[in-house]
Amino acid sequence: MATIRLTKEFSFEMAHILDGYDGPCKNVHGHSYKLAVTVIGKPINDPKSPKFGMVMDFGQLKAIVNKQVINQFDHVLLVNSNSPILKLKDNKALGNIVGVNFQPTCENLLEHIANLIQKELPKEVKLHHIKLHETANSFAEWYASDNE
Ligand SMILES: [Zn+2]
Repeated sequence: MATIRLTKEFSFEMAHILDGYDGPCKNVHGHSYKLAVTVIGKPINDPKSPKFGMVMDFGQLKAIVNKQVINQFDHVLLVNSNSPILKLKDNKALGNIVGVNFQPTCENLLEHIANLIQKELPKEVKLHHIKLHETANSFAEWYASDNE
């Protein structure tokens, strides 16, 4: 039975600030992020399984990424937990401000997302790679094979 890669694509809107950065991303601003998640495995070879012929149900992959990523980051302002902005977290007028223990660059967010997804995947499939577009022409990629 062949080994197959499955990919599902997602999008979310998120604002961030890069504290201390020497470019425009030091200001509060948002991006329309695009995320592609690729898992690898072999199709289930049991005719009695409801998932017969599937590496993984696309719906299950969608549910995992929605829970672990989209629901956490869509329409939030993501800041480094050292940022003075985080002190405004309880001000309802400013909306949903979320602190993380890393600088919220595309690269660091990507690694964080890889960890969040890996935690929830069924053991029959492995995360192969993920790709996170911060803008239409800028993206970062995480590959399991680069991080073994
Ligand atoms: Zn930015």
